[in-house]
Amino acid sequence: MHRPQQTWCTPFGSGSPKVLGAGSCLADDLCIVLQHSTNAFFAVGRPPRQKANMLGLVKALKQSMTSLVLNQSRLYAVLLSITTLLGCANRNEMYASPPDELIQQVSALLPLAEEYVLSNEKEALENGIPLNSYQLVIARKIGLKNPEKVRIYYVNQLPFPSDPTLAALAMKTGYGSPKTAYTFGYGVWILSSAKGDQVVVAHEFVHVRQAEEMGLSEQIKQYLMQLFIYGYDQAPMEIEAYSEEKKYF
Ligand SMILES: [Zn+2]
Repeated sequence: MHRPQQTWCTPFGSGSPKVLGAGSCLADDLCIVLQHSTNAFFAVGRPPRQKANMLGLVKALKQSMTSLVLNQSRLYAVLLSITTLLGCANRNEMYASPPDELIQQVSALLPLAEEYVLSNEKEALENGIPLNSYQLVIARKIGLKNPEKVRIYYVNQLPFPSDPTLAALAMKTGYGSPKTAYTFGYGVWILSSAKGDQVVVAHEFVHVRQAEEMGLSEQIKQYLMQLFIYGYDQAPMEIEAYSEEKKYF
């Protein structure tokens, strides 16, 4: 199966690679292209000023990409075994008592997912607006403990994980399919085109309540687990939000 190649870039002299689309590297970046079909690595980009440095960087990047490829392979293997083998009842059983492999996969992704959620929450809290009086009433009906902490951040484009393993999970499970809103803690991102749609707001408030009830870290962990086991559409936290979103109007 052909998969598109990905390009890893790192600013010259720094150790941590970032993932960019092919052709997006800056001239001074050292870039390495990973060909998924062959797992081959190619160093590309501008010739470095010091060869020794380049060799060190290539080595570091290769190691980090190899672990990335292994992580993604594990992700696909875990998802495949869950999606092909399980019926609904078995999914509930698995969620009640997840296998070690799944716990390991979720634990490995958790720091990245937390970082993603916290940075998106921060951005919404800094740039978003407090609830209006109508939204405050809805928030209280839904049972939010601290509706005054919520900020709604209207944007033209919703965020998407840049980490390739998180991105792969989002796409495979339906989390990354087109949406009108995402909630990160008290930060609610909503597409500007959905402004005024109070059902969307109510749906997202259910996610705020879930985080308040569980604690944000636990919500992230459980949400990841649910994405693996149920996929986005059938995730219990989503079913709860969809079932409540119209209840208060
Ligand atoms: Zn939702």
